[in-house]
Amino acid sequence: MYDSIVIGCGFAGAVVARELAEKKNKRVLIIDSRPHIGGNCYDRKDEYGILIHQYGPHIFHTNNERVFKYLSRFTEWYPFRHEVVGKIGGRELPIPFNLNTLDMVYGERALELENKLISSFGEGARVPILELMNHPDEDLQEIAQYVYENIFLKYTMKQWGRSPKEIDPAVSGRVPVLLSRDNRYFQDKYQGIPLHGYTEIFEKMLDHEGIDIRLNCQGTDVLCLDPEGDVKVRFEDEPFHGDVIFTGALDEFFGCCYGRLPYRSLDFYFEHYEKPFYQSHAVVNYTVSEKFTRITEFKYLSGQLDMKDTTIVKEYPKAYSGSKGEIPYYAINNPENDALFEKYKALVDQIPGFYLLGRLAEYKYYNIDAIVERALDLAERL
Ligand code: UDP
Repeated sequence: MYDSIVIGCGFAGAVVARELAEKKNKRVLIIDSRPHIGGNCYDRKDEYGILIHQYGPHIFHTNNERVFKYLSRFTEWYPFRHEVVGKIGGRELPIPFNLNTLDMVYGERALELENKLISSFGEGARVPILELMNHPDEDLQEIAQYVYENIFLKYTMKQWGRSPKEIDPAVSGRVPVLLSRDNRYFQDKYQGIPLHGYTEIFEKMLDHEGIDIRLNCQGTDVLCLDPEGDVKVRFEDEPFHGDVIFTGALDEFFGCCYGRLPYRSLDFYFEHYEKPFYQSHAVVNYTVSEKFTRITEFKYLSGQLDMKDTTIVKEYPKAYSGSKGEIPYYAINNPENDALFEKYKALVDQIPGFYLLGRLAEYKYYNIDAIVERALDLAERL
């Protein structure tokens, strides 16, 4: 009955499903274990009418014109300018640490330090904190130490349970020291929030006669593998000859037979306030204090600035244990975990027509744009 089965209804799965149905005339079944489409980008109006991101803030940004154009088929954009501040010592300082932050921290010394930074790295450079820490100049080391202690160390300890020096350097490298006066969190050419929310993108993307959606359904409820048989995949107990695009956690699909792949999870605590605004920016990072990492105030993201009250969410990171209802958000990439992932991947590499796609299934820290591009590429190849 189906040509392709897609497991997981986030961006990876939804884009692939749409492309296979639309461009390749496939009959596609997309399933998801949750009761809604959209994966972690799912958003909805809360009981006060404020559009909340149920699984934490998602701010779209990309330099990839193909991806931006593709998503623009399904949405208009609220041209949101995302600026983040860190609550540090009673002040709010721009993050990423940039030349404006430098002025606020170093006052009269800032100009001399700015000249040093720029002559070492160049104007507009994006310098990972771990790289700045290795610079031989004493003044630059002093800045690096300040940034490390006030922006990275405690936030990263909360987020990952490890210091920035103990985790994949690419993670802290996502938020470099920025040698410009651009206070935006992202410098990409295209950025914004879907005008009517992310969920509407998914509704439109999946609204195609070739696509069936099944929610509240686990991959393992409908699929099983039979590596010994002639046909390797069985769908609802019948041999399945089509493609399977799997976007879930690979270890769980195999019953964690080699042990659990470590992920970080988050607890979200939503709060509603009867006042127009809770904080100064959409996202405020708590880089030195508190148990949560950041607070997001949603009306900034949705543009509902005239609402008389406001909803926020606090993010409390934790280890993912796999217990019911818990969600794996971030792969913890290090040589040991990546090797374990490769063991699981080897199990599916032998299965023709079985493809892994996205943050969970590929065990990588992808942004939305990277996932959309990979999904477009995969659908094109199939
Ligand atoms: N980070 C930090 N302090 C900050 C912002 C980020 O230490 O104020 C580090 C932290 O390790 C975090 C990583 O940089 O996990 C990547 O941050 P990003 O904002 O990209 O994380 P995401 O929004 O994907 O959770």
